[in-house]
Amino acid sequence: MTFNHSNLPQSEPTLQIGIILPGDHRKKMTISFTDPSLYEIESEKQINPTRKTPNTLDVSVNDRDMVIRKSVNGFDEQGITIHDVPAGRGFHWEITIDATLPGNVKITNHDGYLLIINEVPLEQYIACVAVSEMSSACPIALLEAQTITARSWILAAAEKKHADLGIDVCNDDCCQRYQGISQMTETSKHAVNNSRGQVLIYENKICDARYSKSCGGITESAENVWDMPPTPYLTSIYDGLETDIEIDWDNWFTKNSDTFCSPAFVDESNLHQYLGSVDKDGQYFRWHVRFSQEEFCEFFSQKVNEDVTHITKIDALNRGQSGRINHLYLDYKTTEGKSKTLQIKNEYEIRRMLHPSFLYSSCFVISMDEKHIEFKGAGWGHGVGLCQIGALGMALHGYATEEILVHYFRNTKLKTLY
Ligand SMILES: [Zn+2]
Ligand SMILES: [Zn+2]
Repeated sequence: MTFNHSNLPQSEPTLQIGIILPGDHRKKMTISFTDPSLYEIESEKQINPTRKTPNTLDVSVNDRDMVIRKSVNGFDEQGITIHDVPAGRGFHWEITIDATLPGNVKITNHDGYLLIINEVPLEQYIACVAVSEMSSACPIALLEAQTITARSWILAAAEKKHADLGIDVCNDDCCQRYQGISQMTETSKHAVNNSRGQVLIYENKICDARYSKSCGGITESAENVWDMPPTPYLTSIYDGLETDIEIDWDNWFTKNSDTFCSPAFVDESNLHQYLGSVDKDGQYFRWHVRFSQEEFCEFFSQKVNEDVTHITKIDALNRGQSGRINHLYLDYKTTEGKSKTLQIKNEYEIRRMLHPSFLYSSCFVISMDEKHIEFKGAGWGHGVGLCQIGALGMALHGYATEEILVHYFRNTKLKTLY
């Protein structure tokens, strides 16, 4: 993809998506084909450029670089399946999945590890992202809102997290969750076709439209999460009907409110049918986790790489408008009896450090005594931009795509690029 957000593309770009990254440390992978007759393998030395591929193919880092090309154009149910692809790298729910991908696949050796790239037209990528992030059982307005948000984010290309690998995005939550075509339905294809080429625009530029699973009731301002200037359309909003509401912070983490992402709009017992396949056990609106001092010290010792025997204090020094902590300090004692202090100045690090794998969000209150440490929290994810569960709540209650988008991204407009 070779453009930047100040010159708007006028035709559909092709994306390079990292599926297996050098950081996954894979040396061998298995690939299979839903219909091998549709593919051709092309390698550096053109060994068998027209050879039809077998049903499965084992690739190794010692093989020559190769491109597996689909010989027919267009978007259909046929794809290349990459087995054991990591999903949710580093999160509490990390798993591996088999991802069936549209488009072409390129396999290269990057410093001794496999780099597998999926080359795919943007609209096909977006169609898969929409249902990888949320289930295709979702109402069409939610899928369209999700689609336009994802398309805007990738076309704004403001993040460029993997520029060193020559890819536009990876397949994971680090960028956008992309799990291929297997969950696609007529409804989700319809959502993409309906909104083909549509993006959110603010002051003539494509919006860097962020989203997360659940804001917890109030969205967060971008500058409280990332090192970026305040962005007018990524500022905190109350995720409900009222606009000017006094928040009762004393009860915020224990009581349900009436926001779009709360059980007032989305029944949590029905939620699993609307969410992507990897999120089945999640608590989305209010959650709590409780550790004994021993349990906490055990995983915390690994994170700080020393023997921690007791946590003396955990305190929030700063919170964003959503209640997310972005500056926290923690006093602890080591086996040698030393007292130490750790300051964490980032919501992502806070979530990583205070849980064996990952906390749902940094939006929580802390209660602790000699024996236990407990966090009562709200929401899931960074909370900036579109709240996916809130957008679902709005869609289930009859709000239209554009109403959902301008609720989360204030003062933006829809524009069709191509
Ligand atoms: Zn990424
Ligand atoms: Zn929300």
